[in-house]
Amino acid sequence: MGAFSRALASHHRTEKARRWLFVPYDQLSDEIGPLSREDPKELGIVLVECPAKAARRPYHKQKLALVLTNLRHFAIEQAARGVAVRHVVGASYAAALEGLSAELGPLRVMRPAERELRVELAPLFDRGALLEIPHEGWLTKREDLQGPGPWRMDAFYRGVRRRLGVLMKGGKPVGGKLSFDAENRQAWPGTPPAPASPTYEVDAITEEVCELVTSRMAHHPGALRPEALPATRADAERTWRWSKQHCLPLFGPFEDAMSTRSRTLFHTRISPLLNLGRLRPKQIVDDVERMDIPLASKEGFIRQVLGWREFVHHVHDATDGFRVLRGVTQPTASGPGKGGFDGWSEEPWPAAPGGDGGSLTSVLGADRPVPPAYWGSSSGLRCLDEVVAAVWEDGYSHHITRLMVLSNIATLLDVSPRELTDWFWVAYIDAYDWVVEPNVHAMGTFGVGDLMTTKPYVAGSAYIDKMSDYCESCRFDPKKSCPFPSLYWAFLGRHRDALAGVDRMKLPLASEARRTAAQRRHDAEVFERVAAALMRGEALAP
Ligand SMILES: Cc1cc2nc3c(=O)[nH]c(=O)nc-3n(C[C@H](O)[C@H](O)[C@H](O)COP(=O)(O)OP(=O)(O)OC[C@H]3O[C@@H](n4cnc5c(N)ncnc54)[C@H](O)[C@@H]3O)c2cc1C
Ligand code: SF4
Repeated sequence: MGAFSRALASHHRTEKARRWLFVPYDQLSDEIGPLSREDPKELGIVLVECPAKAARRPYHKQKLALVLTNLRHFAIEQAARGVAVRHVVGASYAAALEGLSAELGPLRVMRPAERELRVELAPLFDRGALLEIPHEGWLTKREDLQGPGPWRMDAFYRGVRRRLGVLMKGGKPVGGKLSFDAENRQAWPGTPPAPASPTYEVDAITEEVCELVTSRMAHHPGALRPEALPATRADAERTWRWSKQHCLPLFGPFEDAMSTRSRTLFHTRISPLLNLGRLRPKQIVDDVERMDIPLASKEGFIRQVLGWREFVHHVHDATDGFRVLRGVTQPTASGPGKGGFDGWSEEPWPAAPGGDGGSLTSVLGADRPVPPAYWGSSSGLRCLDEVVAAVWEDGYSHHITRLMVLSNIATLLDVSPRELTDWFWVAYIDAYDWVVEPNVHAMGTFGVGDLMTTKPYVAGSAYIDKMSDYCESCRFDPKKSCPFPSLYWAFLGRHRDALAGVDRMKLPLASEARRTAAQRRHDAEVFERVAAALMRGEALAP
């Protein structure tokens, strides 16, 4: 018997006279739903580990360990409260729950956030083996999106600030305006010092999970760092205390900065815990609203959690994960996704059960594969290599590196939105379909056009040079030899027709139109040369 089984057995509870719930891997909280208000001695929970889910995509090892150790610790925490716990390992969620519902009676479950799980469980809901109850972890409602789309985060955020009265006084926004975004765009000069990320005690249960990942999932990519795994509820709360003390006061000004000297800067690193249910958005927003910190940081942070996080969830839901856009059903990947680099390329990822591989929409017709550099081979581009190294070491990089380095470069290279989304999904420890698909497929690549963003987030080298120190140690010179300016102009030239109706692209397109024929030929030649070399896995040199 292993450490986890022994710990769970030591809290054995009678299973008689219990009302049973199924708790999915990302609802690990007793502060919402029936666990928050019903007598623990009258409740039982079912927790399922599913090796097939872990094998479905080449998930980062750190993510596999994070999910498993939190699920196991949650089992013990609930058993210690007096809840009866059934922890099972199943060939699929559906197979495990079918048998358990026959034995224990219909299981209640809060609506799963992941579409992928909802699709798998749909037949059980239809048969009454599972009974859906509302997910109480969201702060906002689908109606807050307003209308059939396109949707804008700003409008959504203004609406929910007013409706929920967050950062409002006497019906007016605190500080006189709803957004302080314009004040939050500083580069980070190296001071004030950025905090080091917290580390955690590695107990016998986390050790056992890490052994399982190392032995059974050794072929998955990414480094496994047990000391960087928050595992318990106490770890999650400690992380949040750390975030409040060390990150929140300076969150705003350096929100968009990037640096080789700190991968995390003043970002809180709470997304993996929020997305597993270990932290609750309500608690986060309430705490920050009460904090005595500069208003630009306070508002900037609340916008992320109350605005962006809720917004992308609703957009995903409203479009069925971009399978239905403006009422029209979109093509989906008919087979498995494509693999990547170094061992993965030969192994197709199995499609989700009942799944379709996800929306293939690309309004720009982008269809190239994710270059090997994203899987760790050197590109010679300092910004890209720096962020990719962080991702495979930590399963994390912050928002601007995701958007303005990884997504920007892939978009400039015409990488398929689907393939890039699948890459993000496996590479990041906070990725689940409802959050990764809107952020990458819609925001990062403009794959679904102006459905939720006003323009593609593409840029040449000036933005990266201004907001980071990457260029200082790059073999390219951002103003002379860097290929990004040409890639940017070539992108505008190639996609002129598709972007012509996008208001915020009118100025950039007008600038592109003023380029000479020779400049255009040069831009196109740089694009072809750089794209071909990166697709072959070659490092670029000036
Ligand atoms: C291309 C791309 C891919 C992304 N993929 C994911 C993903 O798979 N999972 C994920 O949770 N976030 C994703 N994001 C959003 C954002 O980058 C991360 O939530 C954030 O970097 C997490 O780090 P943090 O906790 O330190 O965030 P902080 O900067 O400290 O922000 C606080 C919190 O705000 C929330 N938040 C902010 N922006 C978003 C957003 N756009 N969508 C959802 N939540 C947001 C997160 O919960 C985050 O923890 C993605 C963004 C981009 C541009
Ligand atoms: S010079 Fe160009 S390639 Fe190098 S770090 Fe700067 S933006 Fe990236």
